Amino acid sequence: MQTYVSPIWRHFPSDLVSRTERCIRIASERLENNGRGRIFFRADDVAAPGDKFGRLMDIFKRHRVPLCLAVVPAWLTGRRWQYLKDLGAKKSSLWCWHQHGWRHVNHETDGKKQEFGTSRSRPDIKRDLVQGRQRLEDLMETEFYPVFTPPWNRCSLDTLQLLGELGYVAVSRSRGSMPQAPRGLPDFYATVDLHTRKERNPAVGWKNLLEELQLAISSTFCGIMIHHQRMNEAAFDFLEVLIRILVKRRELQLVNYKDLA
Ligand SMILES: [Zn+2]
Repeated sequence: MQTYVSPIWRHFPSDLVSRTERCIRIASERLENNGRGRIFFRADDVAAPGDKFGRLMDIFKRHRVPLCLAVVPAWLTGRRWQYLKDLGAKKSSLWCWHQHGWRHVNHETDGKKQEFGTSRSRPDIKRDLVQGRQRLEDLMETEFYPVFTPPWNRCSLDTLQLLGELGYVAVSRSRGSMPQAPRGLPDFYATVDLHTRKERNPAVGWKNLLEELQLAISSTFCGIMIHHQRMNEAAFDFLEVLIRILVKRRELQLVNYKDLA
């Protein structure tokens, strides 16, 4: 697992708190349909214990904010699950433990990385989905919720069709991902990427991030991606700043997939 930290987390603007407050205020004022905005956070690559993961859970617990956790089935053991469950104890209604890629490996030889891409056969994809789900259900029992987040937010049409056939509630990719999910399989898409941003120039990165946040919230649906392994002090600080601002706004509802289904 790489531990590349995006440049924005090395250059924290001094006026970031006020800029973020302003961004959320404007987004709220522009909420389409005079409606309420729904926001979810999705943490990817979950399974291994560690300080960063503990710190992440602590932030969500303290602020009583829901979190969708994409768990890599092959990385999870009974002991690890016990650890994860204990971290979330007494606040279990906040968490939505769901399925990430079986081993989180790339199978494509060229093009973008995918574990569930077009180079794989339908039976192979089905096997990885089924064994992943089985493992999570065996370990997590009723805590498991059947939503699938494909690694790198990408998967083939075969995968989407299989998810529908196997009775998954939803898939979660990025906004505008192709191919489109079949009818009956909603895509709880993420729009804001906090920790795997590609901009080399931090000022551009911050501008883009706040714009993404504002646009997504004003559209009434905003999914925010978290990669805890890539987080540094600044990233933890910002997450807390953002959550503090969001929970104060009554028109914004912080949810997990169970609320969205
Ligand atoms: Zn991942």
